[in-house]
Amino acid sequence: MTARILDGNALSAKLRGELAEKAAALTARGTQPCLAVILVGGDPASAVYVRNKVAGCEKAGIKSLKFEYPQDASPADVLGKIAELNADPAVHGILVQLPLPKHFDEKSVLEAISIQKDVDGFHAENVGRLSQGQEAFVPCTPNGVMEMLKSENVSLRGAEAVVIGRSNIVGKPMAMLLTAAGATVTVCHSGTRDLNFHTRRADILVAAIGKPKFVTGDMVMPGAVVIDVGINRLPDGKLCGDVDFESAKEVAGLITPVPGGVGPMTITMLLANTVESAQRSAQKT
Ligand code: NAD
Repeated sequence: MTARILDGNALSAKLRGELAEKAAALTARGTQPCLAVILVGGDPASAVYVRNKVAGCEKAGIKSLKFEYPQDASPADVLGKIAELNADPAVHGILVQLPLPKHFDEKSVLEAISIQKDVDGFHAENVGRLSQGQEAFVPCTPNGVMEMLKSENVSLRGAEAVVIGRSNIVGKPMAMLLTAAGATVTVCHSGTRDLNFHTRRADILVAAIGKPKFVTGDMVMPGAVVIDVGINRLPDGKLCGDVDFESAKEVAGLITPVPGGVGPMTITMLLANTVESAQRSAQKT
């Protein structure tokens, strides 16, 4: 069997078209959605992510503001900028690109962002709201995965879902969203004793590990949905996921590629959260 490919580029293009329409309608009513992005230091991967986010905004008619700080920037300066952006009614989303330099306390920076503008969904209050099923900004990568599952009408109620990875930005919120959708969720991590036992019984297998081609075909249940969140750069410069696509696609029923799978959906959901925030702000005025 060869799996069907779940094309994140195609789904993103469709969703971004819809978001552009919403952004245009809001702009016409006097509220152009606006995302402020803060980048500290010269990490090349972070610079690429920020560039893609800014370009995504531009194409969707969302205004973007970019604030760049050097590697040795003072945390007080960055916190001051966040306070200024929190108070600016024309700014609807604030994103601080991670990782921050070592002398920053990442947690206190993320929690300085107003929860109404926390479009990355990393603020502890938004995470708590999400876990209680209250309205919250949902972290973009797992939210993108949920949209991908929805687009394929993947049945989640009662399904066995296995998430490999327990990070705050992917694994944990992914498990919360799948649980809320009615799946029976197992979270595996670096301390899991028999990983294959869990992965082989997954109807839906999400890999968010950060290790190239870690999940091989023999770890996948025939016909399973395999979602590869990983983005790894190989020595030859090519990108690959946490799933060994070649072997897994021979066993799975549906699989996301890397690149062109979850990656584009992450930015799409960031744009969606920014438009949503602008919509909430327009309703208040
Ligand atoms: P992380 O390093 O914070 O977490 C990795 C997780 O994998 C940990 O919870 C760890 O316990 C688990 N793990 C490590 N080794 C393991 C093993 N041998 N067996 C089982 N579990 C193991 O990483 P992260 O931030 O969650 O990112 C994971 C991957 O997703 C990375 O490749 C990252 O680049 C990618 N990512 C992609 C997007 C996107 O937009 N597609 C967004 C965020 C992260």
